[in-house]
Amino acid sequence: MQRLGATLDRIDRRGYGAYKDLSGPHDLGRFTLFMDRVQRDPFAPPSLVRVRTKENAFDRALFENAVRRVAFEDFLTRSVEGEIRAVMRGDRGSGGSGRVEIQRPSQVVLPRTSLVVEPGNVEARMAVGLPARGRSVDARAARKMLLEELPEVVRRSLVPAPEGDVNEERARLHVETVGDAEHLRGLLPELGLVAFVANGAVLPRESGASDRPLREGAVPFKSPEEYRVEVDLPNQGVVSGMGIPEGVTLVAGGGFHGKSTLLSALSWGVYDHVPGDGRELAVAREDAVKIRAEDGRSVSGVDISAMIGDLPGGRTTEDFSTSNASGSTSQAANIAEALEVGTSLLLVDEDTSATNFMIRDERMRELVRSEPISPFIDLVRPLHRSLGVSTVVVVGGVGDYLDVADRVILLEDYAPSEATSRAREITKKFPPRAPLACREMRPPRERTVHASSIDLRRGERQTARGRGLGTIELGRERVDLSSLEQLVEAGQTEAVARIIGKFVGAGGARGMRELAREAVAFVSERGLDSLGGFDGHPGEMSLPRAQEVAAAINRVHLLRAGRRL
Ligand code: ADP
Ligand code: MG
Repeated sequence: MQRLGATLDRIDRRGYGAYKDLSGPHDLGRFTLFMDRVQRDPFAPPSLVRVRTKENAFDRALFENAVRRVAFEDFLTRSVEGEIRAVMRGDRGSGGSGRVEIQRPSQVVLPRTSLVVEPGNVEARMAVGLPARGRSVDARAARKMLLEELPEVVRRSLVPAPEGDVNEERARLHVETVGDAEHLRGLLPELGLVAFVANGAVLPRESGASDRPLREGAVPFKSPEEYRVEVDLPNQGVVSGMGIPEGVTLVAGGGFHGKSTLLSALSWGVYDHVPGDGRELAVAREDAVKIRAEDGRSVSGVDISAMIGDLPGGRTTEDFSTSNASGSTSQAANIAEALEVGTSLLLVDEDTSATNFMIRDERMRELVRSEPISPFIDLVRPLHRSLGVSTVVVVGGVGDYLDVADRVILLEDYAPSEATSRAREITKKFPPRAPLACREMRPPRERTVHASSIDLRRGERQTARGRGLGTIELGRERVDLSSLEQLVEAGQTEAVARIIGKFVGAGGARGMRELAREAVAFVSERGLDSLGGFDGHPGEMSLPRAQEVAAAINRVHLLRAGRRL
C-alpha cells in the first residue's frame, strides 16, 4: 500500500506516461492489485487491472463443481458491477479519468473472463481510467480511487459476510437456480422433449432493446393441460410446465398474441438465466438453432441441394457460393450450416422467414413449373423422420402448415392452448394441399474450411477482435453477425473472433464441424484465458457455442470452404 502511495506521490503532476511506474503487482492488504496494462494517455482505452483476494472464505459448496463455479463467478461479477456503481465516484477529469468497469453481463449466465474463483482466492478483472488533469497525473484522485474506493469495492463485493458484504444466501439461490436449469436441460432428451417452459415463467421483455423482464402487465406462462409435464429438480423439487415433444410443433395465433416472444424464449433457452429473469426454467435443447432469412449474407461452398435444386444456368447447389444470398437461399444455407455443425432443434418464425422458402401454394405450383425451391413445409417432416431434427415453427398466416404439424399450440392473449384436434377438423373441412412425394431428407455434405482464406492482416498487424455484439473484425474485413440471434453478449463475439484468429494461426484445412466443436471444447476445458490478452489480463470474453463460432466463420466474405475430398 505504501509503495503504491509513494509512487503516486512521486509522479503527481508529471506527464501521464509516468503512470507506467505503477505496472506490476501491489500488495493492498486484503488483496493484491495487478496493474497489467497501463494506458498511455487519458483518452486511450483504459488501463487493465486485476484484483486478487488473499483468501477465499466463501462456502465451498458455492463452487464445488463446474456448473456451480460458473454460476458463482457470474454472481460475483454482478456483485462487483453493482458495488463499483455504488462506491466509485466515476468521472474524475479528462478522457476516461475515474471510470471503472467490469465486463457487463447480459441476463444469461456464461463462463466469462471477468472473474475467477479458486479455492484460495477470488480474482476480478477490470478496466480503470487512471485520473488526469489535462494530460498529467492526478495523484490525489488516483489515491482516492485505488487506495480508498477500490478496497471498499473489494470488501463489499468479493468478501463474504460478516467481514465483507456478500450475502451467501443470495449466492446460493443464484447457483441453485442455474443448477436446476442445467439439470432440466439435461433431462429433455430422455423425456423425449425439445423444450420446457415452467408454469409461472415470465417471457416478455421490457422492450425490443432490453432483455430484462417486462415489469407491468406480464401474463405468466401457464401450460395447457395436454402438454403438462412434471419434472423433479435438485433444488426446487417438483415443477410443472409445458413440455414440447420431439417432432413438428406449430405455434399459431393472431398477430401480437405472444408467438415470437415464446419462440425467442426457446431460442435463449439454450442458456441459463439469472434469478428474477422470468426465464429461469424456460429451456431448450442446448444445440437448438434459430433459423431466419438473411438476404445479403455471403455463403461459401454450402450444400443446399436437399432444399434448393439446380439454379438458372444449370448451377448446382451442392457447393453453393454467393456473396449476396437471397432471402430463400440464405435461409436454406442457414439450415444446412446448422445441420452441419449439429442440431436437434430448429426454431423458425414466420416473421423473419422468406415467404417463398416457407410455402408455395397450388396456384403458384401450377404457374411456375421451374421452381428449384422445395418449400420448408415439405421438409419439416423429412427433417424429423430422416435426421431426427425437430422443428418449432411460428405461423400466423399460412394454414397449410396444419397439415404437417404433429401438434398445434394456439396462443390467445398470451395464453397457450392445445389446438391439434381442432386443426385436424379444419384440415378435413378445407381440402389439404396436394400431398407431396414422401421425401427423404439427406444431411448436407460436410465441408472443409481453409484457414489461409481468412486474412487477418491489417497494416503491420494481425487482428481478430469483437466490435460490440454484432460485428467482428478480421484483418480489414468486418463480418456482420447481427443476424445471429443466439449471440447474447459482446464477450461472446470477442471470444468468437479470437477463436477464429487462433484457427487461422494454426493454418491448414479442417472440417467445419470438428473445427467449431473442438475449438469450443478446448476453450471450455482450458478456460477463456487461453485465448490470450495482455500481460495476464485476458480482456472481456464470454463462452460462445460451437454453433455461433461456425456461423461467424460462415459469414467471412472470402472464405474458401467446400466439399470434403
Ligand atoms: P406475435 O409474434 O404473436 O405477433 P409478440 O410475441 O411479438 O407477438 O408479442 C407482442 C407483444 O406482446 C410484445 O410487445 C410482447 O412483449 C408482448 N407480450 C408477449 N407475451 C406476453 C405476455 N405473456 N404478457 C404480456 N405481454 C406479452
Ligand atoms: Mg411475431
